[in-house]
Amino acid sequence: MQLQKNISLKGYNTFGIDVTAEYFLCVTESNHIPELLTDSSLPQEQHIIGGGSNILLTKNQSGLTLLNQTKGIELLKEDNNHVWLKVASGEVWHELVMYAIGHGWAGIENLALIPGTVGAAPMQNIGAYGIEAKGAIESVTAWHKEQKEFITLNNNDCQFGYRDSIFKHELKGKVFITHVVFKLNKQPTFHTEYGAIKAELENMQVNELTIKAIAQAVINIRSSKLPDPKVMGNAGSFFKNPTIPAAQYEQLKQEHTQIPAYPVTDDTVKVPAGWLIEQCGFKGCTRGGTGVHEKQALVLVNRNNTTGKEVWDLSEEIVQTVHDKFDIMLEREVQIW
Ligand code: FAD
Ligand code: NAP
Repeated sequence: MQLQKNISLKGYNTFGIDVTAEYFLCVTESNHIPELLTDSSLPQEQHIIGGGSNILLTKNQSGLTLLNQTKGIELLKEDNNHVWLKVASGEVWHELVMYAIGHGWAGIENLALIPGTVGAAPMQNIGAYGIEAKGAIESVTAWHKEQKEFITLNNNDCQFGYRDSIFKHELKGKVFITHVVFKLNKQPTFHTEYGAIKAELENMQVNELTIKAIAQAVINIRSSKLPDPKVMGNAGSFFKNPTIPAAQYEQLKQEHTQIPAYPVTDDTVKVPAGWLIEQCGFKGCTRGGTGVHEKQALVLVNRNNTTGKEVWDLSEEIVQTVHDKFDIMLEREVQIW
């Protein structure tokens, strides 16, 4: 571990925004974290970066930026039906998915190819294709900076919601997640109803449904639809899909007959934010160095050396326009720094 000064963060965020970190430290050992975070000689303002795939950097980062690269996967226990894996938070999420599939352990295969680290997965309860990380998370262990001790939260304690958890609220900025324990299934339950998975499996001419085939279908769909951050900077979906009252939806449907929706509860529905943004004419647009992706209106992209401010301003324009047209307030999913 070597403390560095005035380091460019361009390579550490998938948007590829070029701001600096006043101080920068790469963390490779979980057991160094207590010592590190109680070291009074280090800046007390601290930011944690995993894969940098869910942040928008709008300014130079003062204080200490910690890059989490802790590694390790441990088989804690198993029975006839399940395995429990304790995974270091700096492990790459997609590599964990492929590791689980390689062992025939099911539960996270629909979450293949989501960028980022294992430690950030509980933060927003990552989800895709009808599956959320909360379905496989047994517990989360974190160093609590104020209490100066490790805390372990079980699945309920994490208060998981739609792209949401306690780590975005009560514990925001207060913890360094060090490990996540996953409970995976030896007997798979397949989830193929969502989005384009079924069609892609047919396209692949899969004879026997397996978790490996599902992951491959997800990888194929994602690769064809989503911009690769290495080619065009982005942070995935910039906004959450809004949940609105069913009554409001019925009213909107009178004017916008094609508006899609998925039921959430008896009284609420989820409307795809990408559809709302597309209807406002933003799909494929360019504003300076930023813009909205041509194939997926929910993804804001770095077209050419954009800045965090440019992306933020475009996101504001989108929020206002969608609000004016549909009376729906979009909420950003990406963390603004
Ligand atoms: P970072 O961006 O590094 O950090 C995100 C937040 O978590 C920050 O506030 C950071 O401080 C905090 N954090 C990170 N690690 C820790 C830790 N160890 N302890 C405490 N706090 C921490 N998300 C989905 O849910 N579903 C998708 O399908 C999906 N697809 C995506 C596709 C693309 C192309 C991209 C670029 C992003 C996508 N995302 C998706 C968003 C993103 O990949 C996830 O949110 C991911 O979990 C972020 O991980 P990260 O390590 O990059 O987090
Ligand atoms: P899609 O399949 O084109 O669907 C558009 C939206 O409709 C999705 O956002 C999804 O909501 C919703 N949807 C589709 N089928 C549904 C169903 N059967 N029941 C309930 N809701 C349904 O979406 P996409 O853009 O290609 O993304 C595919 C999946 O990957 C989605 O789950 C999406 O969340 C995830 N993804 C997430 C990010 C991110 O950064 N967060 C980036 C890329 C992809 P949900 O988003 O609520 O699932």
